[in-house]
Amino acid sequence: QSTRPLADRSPEEIEAFLAEQRAAHADLAARGLTLDLTRGKPSSAQLDLSDRLLALPEGHVDADGVDTRNYGGLHGLRELREIFAELLWIEPEQLVAGGSSSLVMMREVLVDLLLKGGVDSERPWSAEEKVTFICPVPGYDRHFTLLEWLGIETVTVPMLETGPDVDAVAEIAAADPSVKGIWIVPTYANPTGSVVTQEVAERLASMPTAAPDFKIFWDNAYAFHHLTEDEAKSADILSLASAAGHPHRPIMFASTSKITYAGAGVAFVGGSVETVQWYVGHLGQGSIGPDKLNQLRHAQFFGSAQGVRDHMVRHREVIGPKFAEVQRVLEERLGGLGVATWTEPTGGYFVSLDVLDGTASRVIALAKQAGIALTPAGSAFPHSDDPRDRNIRLAPTFPPLEQVTAAMEAVTTCVLLAAAEKLHG
Ligand code: PMP
Repeated sequence: QSTRPLADRSPEEIEAFLAEQRAAHADLAARGLTLDLTRGKPSSAQLDLSDRLLALPEGHVDADGVDTRNYGGLHGLRELREIFAELLWIEPEQLVAGGSSSLVMMREVLVDLLLKGGVDSERPWSAEEKVTFICPVPGYDRHFTLLEWLGIETVTVPMLETGPDVDAVAEIAAADPSVKGIWIVPTYANPTGSVVTQEVAERLASMPTAAPDFKIFWDNAYAFHHLTEDEAKSADILSLASAAGHPHRPIMFASTSKITYAGAGVAFVGGSVETVQWYVGHLGQGSIGPDKLNQLRHAQFFGSAQGVRDHMVRHREVIGPKFAEVQRVLEERLGGLGVATWTEPTGGYFVSLDVLDGTASRVIALAKQAGIALTPAGSAFPHSDDPRDRNIRLAPTFPPLEQVTAAMEAVTTCVLLAAAEKLHG
């Protein structure tokens, strides 16, 4: 097919192009496909990589001689915290190993802040007239729905390749004391794949904020999830914030959901020693200790921080080809036509596709007609409101490679058809 931009074509050419894409879409719909690119889940081949866990732990006593079958140990197993503290560049005292979900920990921390206030708060956040969070967009849908559920207001800033638009963030945070925090996925962000640079991290850590207890929710869900040998290093946000005189500003989260098992991994929350004490104090009101047997088997499975890094290379070998396939199909089918731009992530779980303004929901509806499930339009924005109706999040890890190819070919047909409809008017 011609690769001349659609916008440069004559009305007759657009007419013909539209007819071609309609026919292609009709063929697609007739094939009765059922394919799914919605959620960033590990594939079963990835889960298989961790099946040695099913035969662990060996014994049930941890490095401190504690019987992990019993109650206790709210901070989590020391040997597992040591491994992940090294990977996250913090001290083990700054890290808690908990249950299987970091998202649950994010919810706990927000609820604790609302009900009790943070270590540096003047009062509980719920006693404020209003609480607002800065949301870089596109971002992770569950971050936004969690805020909505808690009645926290949102203000958006653009997510750039280097992290959030930090000038916009600094301006908003300095001006409004109701602005209490920001979501940051610092490494291979969901869905853009952006990596927060050292400069952006320094600004976030040091910027003046109108709220004295401003929090950076540093959700490092994809810290080790490299897709190439060019491995991004997360900025050391806790040291930066400490050096800038805001030691309690960052609260970091991570988990092994996409390292071992997404339903039976281990999640972590970290921060200043005071923040950790604050978190554990609240946790202890509802828990006598985590699943230490699961933590023990994870510690034995990895053995060391290097064990985690080595394991992530095996993930990369499984999912790298799927991401390469997404790029190949996008480039071959959409390249040069001026109908879409997309990210080329070097890690994480997503590709963020921007189609012509006003056509994302149409593309998603066309895909649905053809049996391809895509994340609902606007998902990556608070209140599902993508003001330009252009963003589509693609998640290629779960389906087998041949399904990624088929799904992406179908998606590109829908992008072309929606673009042709728009230009035809
Ligand atoms: N944060 C981000 C940015 C994510 O993409 C995800 C998973 N989709 C999570 C958190 C969820 O993490 P967990 O499984 O530890 O709850």
